[in-house]
Amino acid sequence: MANNSVSLFFSWESLGDLEIGRPNLGLMAPVLIYRLMHYSVKAVLGEKFGPEATKEIFIKAGQVAGETFCHHLLNTRLTLDEFLVELKKKLLDWKIGILEIEDIQRHSMDMTLTVAEDLDCSGLPVSDKTFCDYDEGFLAGILKVYTGRDFLVEEIDCWATGDRVCRFRVKIQDVT
Ligand SMILES: [Zn+2]
Repeated sequence: MANNSVSLFFSWESLGDLEIGRPNLGLMAPVLIYRLMHYSVKAVLGEKFGPEATKEIFIKAGQVAGETFCHHLLNTRLTLDEFLVELKKKLLDWKIGILEIEDIQRHSMDMTLTVAEDLDCSGLPVSDKTFCDYDEGFLAGILKVYTGRDFLVEEIDCWATGDRVCRFRVKIQDVT
């Protein structure tokens, strides 16, 4: 298999063999436990490095995860429309969220995507900030592997800002 490692310190294989490792407990764990890890890491990084650097770290981590997810779980040979259908299905299968394409300009790849019941933020108390930095990077990473282009993904609505879906504005970053 091709080496699709996107980080020196991280690869799909570094996630381990869960079929051997968890023969009784299996692949799934409660969302609360996922969030316990995610939020505690975010809190500690925030205390140590401040909110801006923490956001940057989560975007970058999401990007590494998205690239790896795409390499291993998505078919990059599909047409754009087929690819988005498959992406929607995989995000459902893996219980990450319910993806909808709200708007798409196929020639420029400008898109507005929504994710309902988002794994990272749905149910959070309302604050003045969007929460899903990791998802911004995750979507950018997936689209980078699919297109070979860098994407800017910005969350403009979030459960954490009082909306009921996360809404992401997506555009190619490397326009010359
Ligand atoms: Zn959100």
